Amino acid sequence: MQKNKKSDLEDERMEKEKEVVAESTENQKEEKVMEEILEDEINIESEKTEEENNLEKEVWIPKTKLGNLVKEGKITLEDIFRFGYKIREPEIIDALITPLEEDIIYIGGSPGKGGGIQRRAARRTVRIHKSGRRINLSAMVIVGNKNGYLGVGFGRAPTNKEAIKKAARNARLNIFPVRRGCGSPECKCGEEHSIPFTVVGKTGSVVVKLMPAPRGLNLCAPDEIKKIFRLAGIKDIRMKSRGQTGTRLNFIYAVENALKNLNKMKL
Ligand SMILES: [Zn+2]
Repeated sequence: MQKNKKSDLEDERMEKEKEVVAESTENQKEEKVMEEILEDEINIESEKTEEENNLEKEVWIPKTKLGNLVKEGKITLEDIFRFGYKIREPEIIDALITPLEEDIIYIGGSPGKGGGIQRRAARRTVRIHKSGRRINLSAMVIVGNKNGYLGVGFGRAPTNKEAIKKAARNARLNIFPVRRGCGSPECKCGEEHSIPFTVVGKTGSVVVKLMPAPRGLNLCAPDEIKKIFRLAGIKDIRMKSRGQTGTRLNFIYAVENALKNLNKMKL
């Protein structure tokens, strides 16, 4: 197992080296054209029907102890997080959180190109291999119940559909409770429409600061980030950010990190 991993790593390194060589020999203009050609339309509307979902749930045979406990109804979601159990089966979340909503964060498309940014669901990365171009697609999916639970997941696969499926699975495995409250001095209503205090999160160069907001202010955030707050059940929030926020992935992870940091602070 370990040996395989090691040789895989070596392979990857070799490919990367080849990539560098290929890139430097390839003419810049050609690359740009290539990028444009590769960015074809992707269909994200083809979601699973409700029937298919139900069918999948029915045949769930838990593989872990925790899965069995959940299936027998012997443990609640609150307990899982209180005792710090690791969730290894996405079905656990489907069984415990109903309804669970899913959303795709658009991480694809290339920003800064003339004519504005066109966002796409999946990010495309191309490696140059001796046998041609190797295309990988990656996607970001968030899940939540709009009431204090949120999960962010990333998935990479050769096809768009698979990438989204993997991301959705990872999002379930990464679910965490989001601490909400009303930390806004202008509001002080005590209800869970915002966050209880100001919090900071970082990933890479991106630093985000989330601040409580009074009722009715809504979400002061970029559109794709709003999706995260919506699924977490936060209705009013202010945010500031700095760093390379154009790299969506780090931006999203920084927000996730900030929300997780809410749980670390003891009031
Ligand atoms: Zn309030």
